[in-house]
Amino acid sequence: MNTHRVALRGIQEQLPSLAWITDPARVARLSQDFYWFSPVLKSLLDGKVADAVVKPRDESQLRGVVAACAKEHIPITLRGGGTGNYGQSTPLFGGLVIDMSDLKRFCWVRDGAARAQSGIRLSDLDQQTREAGWELRCLPSTFRIASLGGLFAGGFGGIGSINYGPLGAAGTILGVSAMTVEPEPKIIELKGHEALMQHHAWGTNGIVLEIEIALAPARPWSEAIFVFEHAQDTLAFANDLAFAPGIAKKNICVWFDPIPRYLTRLADHLPAGLHAVAAVLAPSSMAAARAMALERCGRQTYEDSTQLATQQNRTIQEYSWNHTTLHVLKEDKAITYLQVSFTAGQHLEQVARVREAFGDAVMLHLEFIRSMDGQITCTALPLLRFQSAEHLQEVIQQFRAMGIRVNNPHVNVVEDGKYGGAVPPEVLELKRRFDPRGLLNPGKLKSWVNAGVEHSTRR
Ligand SMILES: Cc1cc2nc3c(=O)[nH]c(=O)nc-3n(C[C@H](O)[C@H](O)[C@H](O)COP(=O)(O)OP(=O)(O)OC[C@H]3O[C@@H](n4cnc5c(N)ncnc54)[C@H](O)[C@@H]3O)c2cc1C
Repeated sequence: MNTHRVALRGIQEQLPSLAWITDPARVARLSQDFYWFSPVLKSLLDGKVADAVVKPRDESQLRGVVAACAKEHIPITLRGGGTGNYGQSTPLFGGLVIDMSDLKRFCWVRDGAARAQSGIRLSDLDQQTREAGWELRCLPSTFRIASLGGLFAGGFGGIGSINYGPLGAAGTILGVSAMTVEPEPKIIELKGHEALMQHHAWGTNGIVLEIEIALAPARPWSEAIFVFEHAQDTLAFANDLAFAPGIAKKNICVWFDPIPRYLTRLADHLPAGLHAVAAVLAPSSMAAARAMALERCGRQTYEDSTQLATQQNRTIQEYSWNHTTLHVLKEDKAITYLQVSFTAGQHLEQVARVREAFGDAVMLHLEFIRSMDGQITCTALPLLRFQSAEHLQEVIQQFRAMGIRVNNPHVNVVEDGKYGGAVPPEVLELKRRFDPRGLLNPGKLKSWVNAGVEHSTRR
């Protein structure tokens, strides 16, 4: 039996009141996320499992188990909703997965900000802030399952980013409290920029306990689908909507044909062969949006209240962002995806160039956002048939040669995805401060691995 498993048995005996999961099938399930979207990650990560999972009910239980793991040098991988795409919460060296989903207390909401424990589901947090007249500024399309801590430590943004940019844009994350991994764990409060150094670090440089986040004024939303014969009209309409200052919007998503053919549950609203824009707008903005669609030779095929559609599990929000990929994968398992961002001001030309260069071999699905510096542009989760890792790399290079940024979703280290090769030095500084023994999610922070300090976690 491996040494982590033996040591974890001892810890389980010391802390019997904690909710331990040791059944191999459940441990295996709780060691996985949605990395299977990538055939490259699937072959890399299938079979990587924790030795046990624990689900602390409060901070004191968490502290007890973290202290024990630190003493025994056991790797710890944190898990929120487990909806990450890159095997972020899949342990590479076994050890303990800590399921944070019971640390879900809503602390307060006031003056356009809220604070909650990291395990709270985003849909619950949004609901609670709405009761006070506020809503989350951005939500991933996995809002039903994903946690606040998982979005902060593993996500980017999503629905709402057309107004407020990515989650990491200055002013949205106000602060966090996080626990160190030491025999005597400490709780440290980080504010502003320093707190952001734990954002998208995949739980490698601190256990996030609570997050304080700025909110947007809550409003009712409606959702609609508009369809177009020509790709350039579709793109122009989506761009018009994104820029229109009088149109209140929450999400603008473009599906160029043939993507709509895969969205079979929306078939009534997606006539064959047409391109589509799925938008979440204020009800009072719908008439103006319809008129703008008409000007671009388009028409509306669907409208509903987003609140109602969400309650009834049919919101188009759950067809946007990487949910588009999920729905296409249900129809065709040979498809995979990339993540690209177009340059603000050149995004329309760049999209047209990609369509011309690849045709239907790269199916474009766009999401309009504000960039970190506030400019309106679009990102894409392009869909393509998987051939080989080398072919994906060639396609990535072709995008880059056109001046388009690619965040490779087929990699399993923090630096190689969003960060493009290197993390800011402050990320490593926090790692030293919060996880001096290198026990948090080992193997995922390349700069730390390269510093040669991770050997103690290997079995
Ligand atoms: C169909 C689909 C659609 C998606 N759409 C979007 C989207 O629109 N926008 C977007 O940004 N992402 C999207 N994602 C990715 C993912 O759903 C989100 O990033 C989500 O917010 C992750 O939350 P989670 O609770 O599931 O995190 P997990 O997957 O559980 O964890 C993510 C990372 O955070 C770490 N972590 C979790 N909790 C803590 C904590 N308390 N302290 C420190 N580290 C922690 C984990 O170790 C892991 O590295 C999508 C994924 C899928 C499968």
